[in-house]
Amino acid sequence: MEHDETKCLHSGYTPQNGGPGVMPIFQSTTFRFNSTQEIAAVFDDPTKAHIYSRFTNPTVECVEKKIADLENAKAAMCTTSGQAASLISILNLASSGDRILSSSAIYGGTINLFAVTLKKFGIEVDFIDVDADEKEIQAKIKPNTKAIFGETLSNPSLQIMDIEKFAAVANKNQIPLIVDNTFPTPILCKPIDFGADIVIHSTTKYMDGHALQVGGVIVDSGKFDFNNGKFPDFTQPDESYHGIIYTKDYPDCPYIIKARAQLMRDFGCYPSGMSGFLLNIGLETLALRMERYSKNGLQLAEFLNQHPKVKAVNYPMLKDNKYYHLAQKYLKKGASGVMSITLKGDKDETIKFMDKLKLASKEVHVADIRTCVLHPASSTHRQLTNEQLKACGINPSMVRVSAGLENIDDIIKDFEQALL
Ligand code: PLP
Repeated sequence: MEHDETKCLHSGYTPQNGGPGVMPIFQSTTFRFNSTQEIAAVFDDPTKAHIYSRFTNPTVECVEKKIADLENAKAAMCTTSGQAASLISILNLASSGDRILSSSAIYGGTINLFAVTLKKFGIEVDFIDVDADEKEIQAKIKPNTKAIFGETLSNPSLQIMDIEKFAAVANKNQIPLIVDNTFPTPILCKPIDFGADIVIHSTTKYMDGHALQVGGVIVDSGKFDFNNGKFPDFTQPDESYHGIIYTKDYPDCPYIIKARAQLMRDFGCYPSGMSGFLLNIGLETLALRMERYSKNGLQLAEFLNQHPKVKAVNYPMLKDNKYYHLAQKYLKKGASGVMSITLKGDKDETIKFMDKLKLASKEVHVADIRTCVLHPASSTHRQLTNEQLKACGINPSMVRVSAGLENIDDIIKDFEQALL
């Protein structure tokens, strides 16, 4: 299969002769074997079979294969949230005493995870401006820096990460580049094609698409060479898993096998069969939906951009946007339905405008099938200091807008009346 539309429908699950045409739901915590020996064999090789749904499940496995295929990757592992995906993606590489370098243009929850919670585990995260040049990024790398992290299209500031620039520094320092590709999804951008080693998603957003369930996924390109002396946990026997050597025993995708065998086994934040089934329904229409979100997003952005009460529209597909040139490279098929707008009024007037919207719902969500809006400064980014807010490109008159799949004329009409 070559094209995304086809992969969305057919990757990951092939119906057998006379078998169900739709991917079945394996809603079972456990799996039955004929002999003790067969169970023992799976404990020696975690890829052999499903034994327990805390770390693998046949339905979720189909979804993982589909997402890996869409990202041009070797393997994937689903998690119960995007936060869990971010956390595991880091803990699989870094432990107490290590550092991570992260772009500061990332989701507020990830900033908190990095700056507050990981610190408590002894992992320090350094932040860098997403627009920094290679020399500046290099200057932030220390001998114990174990990965670079960033978002393709940041939430909510919509800054575009020059993936090739960050990949060049990561490569030079023999550390993986992790890219959160939540907003573009693999339909609009495939970070691995630009040099990313690991990709993560909050599948809660466009992938699920219907606001049905929170979820995440970690994707392994299989391209990173861990045999460079910096990652002994990958190259030396894992005593907690019968002496497995991840790079030797699983050369195709040691990163994801280790994440599953060590971290998912211990943390257990794995989705159920039913969750995998629901996520798959979203994925089946992802290619089609991303096209329409991007079309509606651009039309709404153009309308708001010429409105006298709107001070600024931040949408990378607008020609005067700072990231327009990077969008032409990384988001050739569109920039999704997400934008942020800054009104000419103050915080109170901004909130009044939001409350006048009728079709667009006010909710803590984004990248949904229905148009929705949110005031980041008083919600998702509430915990950040003024300095951190500024670093993420947020101000009190800013509204995050997520254009859904309603008819664009109805969406525009709603914004028009709320701006009166
Ligand atoms: N990454 C990005 C870019 C996000 O926007 C979010 C949530 O908004 C997350 C990660 C966290 O995902 P979740 O809410 O599924 O835990």
